[in-house]
Amino acid sequence: MEQHTPTLVIGAGPAGLAVSACLKERGAAFILLERAAEIGASWRRHYERLHLHTAARHSSLPGFGFPTGTPRYPSRDQMIGYLIEYARRFGIAPRLGEEVLSLQARAGEWLAETRTGPYRSQNVVVATGFNAVPWTPAWRGQERFKGPILHSLEYRHGEPFRGQRVLVVGFGNSAGEIAIDLHEHGAHPTMAVRGPVNIIPRDILGIPISSLAIVLSRVPIRLADALAPRLSRITTGDIGRFGLTRASVSPMTQIRVESRIPLVDIGTLELIRQGHIEIRPGIHSLGEREVNFEGGSRDEFDAIITATGFRPGVARFLDRTADSENPAANHKGAAPAGEAGGRWPRSRVESDNGLYFCGFTVTPAGMLREIAHEARRIAAHIAGAEPS
Ligand SMILES: Cc1cc2nc3c(=O)[nH]c(=O)nc-3n(C[C@H](O)[C@H](O)[C@H](O)COP(=O)(O)OP(=O)(O)OC[C@H]3O[C@@H](n4cnc5c(N)ncnc54)[C@H](O)[C@@H]3O)c2cc1C
Repeated sequence: MEQHTPTLVIGAGPAGLAVSACLKERGAAFILLERAAEIGASWRRHYERLHLHTAARHSSLPGFGFPTGTPRYPSRDQMIGYLIEYARRFGIAPRLGEEVLSLQARAGEWLAETRTGPYRSQNVVVATGFNAVPWTPAWRGQERFKGPILHSLEYRHGEPFRGQRVLVVGFGNSAGEIAIDLHEHGAHPTMAVRGPVNIIPRDILGIPISSLAIVLSRVPIRLADALAPRLSRITTGDIGRFGLTRASVSPMTQIRVESRIPLVDIGTLELIRQGHIEIRPGIHSLGEREVNFEGGSRDEFDAIITATGFRPGVARFLDRTADSENPAANHKGAAPAGEAGGRWPRSRVESDNGLYFCGFTVTPAGMLREIAHEARRIAAHIAGAEPS
């Protein structure tokens, strides 16, 4: 049976819950759909050692902070607990197990198809996550490799790898933390790093880097770029001797222009310095056990973990030609430039056609903080009021 609601919110992660809370505060009716069986599904899927790399006080959602006593960097479990409590506080009851399979514009409204039937609404807030679909590159000879090749999403903890030689592909935050976790579980991690990198410490002189990023985001990007090389040389020293190349763009530019977060270091660099984590170049091809690296070196491994990121995957359900505000419409429905690189869609907090996107902006101060801002603005726009 077809159901009607003024606003349909898709996804009960931090973004969907934040939008729902802000709509509730304004007395605006909505329905929240979540394909998983529980709230905070993305956080439940992540590896066990994960902690936020942004400080709790900059990572809470509108109207309710992390409880007193929460450490500066909450753990994965604390984050899940926070999301459950957030929904409870605001009386948000998502319809669980309801996946939006397609979303189309129909006669001035939006039509969302699910397995239980269609939903019609004036507004839709897409809050399905920037990091929704795991992405892994393909290498020559991959089918011959005898050990497991796992995406970081399939990695839980290092215990199954005790005593093994494990190659971690990538140099983002998941890669850095998984390499630490492997070392702590008695495995021998090596990181395959394809290109130049930015590394920033999680705290400088006891101040969270996310706090500094908020300050730096207020200064012109050129000034931030000029300060960055000096700051990173002081904080990380000469990384060239470990086989790493410092990126020519600053961390701020990397985040703002490339939507990629630099490695926020929580101890990976020290383990590299001590020789517990080795560094190799990008992968060229694979054999039964051996990995051939760019530049000609090779080594044997028992397992490979690809910490190579995610894609938003919104195109799986959204009919892009239906969205006249979307630049994709100008491309007659062809995949817009950037989708392959994971840069589509962008967040959209004001809309003429009732289609909003929350949680698609990568910022130096952290996506959760940005989600809180976006949620307030989206709810205000839907309710026809000023953001509070
Ligand atoms: C490993 C990792 C660590 C991170 N750490 C931080 C950090 O420390 N600080 C920070 O600020 N940010 C961090 N982020 C970034 C970001 O804040 C998180 O990814 C956050 O969970 C984003 O919230 P979201 O609601 O936009 O997406 P998600 O949390 O991914 O939630 C999206 C929800 O939508 C549901 N969904 C998807 N498709 C459909 C559909 N078609 N129909 C119905 N439901 C659907 C999913 O099941 C999911 O529950 C991290 C990201 C990752 C991957």
